Amino acid sequence: MTTFIPQIEKLSSRIIRVLGCNPGMMTLQGTNTYVVGTGRKRILVDTGEDKKPEYISNLKKVLKDSGSTLQEILITHWHHDHTGGIVDVIRELQLDTDNVKVSKFPRNPILEEKIDDERIQYNYLKDGDVVKTEGATLKAVYTPGHTDDHMVLFLEEENAVLTGDCILGEGTTVFEDLFTYMQSLQKLMGFSPTILYPGHGPIVNEAMVKIQMYIDHRNMRERQIVDVLTKNDKPMESMEIVKIMYADVGEHLHMAANENVCHHLSKLVKENKIIQLKEGVVSKWNANL
Ligand SMILES: [Zn+2]
Repeated sequence: MTTFIPQIEKLSSRIIRVLGCNPGMMTLQGTNTYVVGTGRKRILVDTGEDKKPEYISNLKKVLKDSGSTLQEILITHWHHDHTGGIVDVIRELQLDTDNVKVSKFPRNPILEEKIDDERIQYNYLKDGDVVKTEGATLKAVYTPGHTDDHMVLFLEEENAVLTGDCILGEGTTVFEDLFTYMQSLQKLMGFSPTILYPGHGPIVNEAMVKIQMYIDHRNMRERQIVDVLTKNDKPMESMEIVKIMYADVGEHLHMAANENVCHHLSKLVKENKIIQLKEGVVSKWNANL
């Protein structure tokens, strides 16, 4: 069960969360977008999906009620549930794209990225870049793993981090690269934040406990995989491992779980803890006893 999140909520003197109105299996209650700052110009972090008129009218209301307009849009990563709304936001809020930048990190390796409307180009950030507005100083921190272009934003005034999909308010996240993902979690720890504003799910008030939980969770999954393979005398396919490890989880989540298990498997092979065997196109794994 997921926690109820209102469509609009003021979370602090400088942060208003506007829910993307795109609930779903992977997006939980929907994407959290954040209006950041205290002055007449604010920063929007992430834009939700396209064709969400309810989101656009909520965003308009927040800006109108606070007497502000958007200074800049920051995007945590390329996934559609964070970038899909860019064109709608720009069009519906009548933003002047010569002055309002849409910023993110480049893909790695660099990949040409197009926003649906070709008049809009991304402005690319570098690790450590600082974006300021009245009442808020955001430091862009490169945290790949969930995606190759992922960034989190360290909000100096609150010792808080806007975590995108690196850490979620509920459950755990998926990733493309486990090794860099674990490094990014360590990088987050380095900031010793007290609050996390995640890309999905409720605000996290015990930030360090949550980050440590994420690290422990991955380590636990890794031990489970080695354990399952050790107990089985025959080599196993990844989905067979998933069915044992995720027996208590709905089958509709097994595909996503399988992806994570495969990432663990390749990391474990690299570390020589397990062995990969190929039978034609099928890969199987065995414990390295
Ligand atoms: Zn997301």
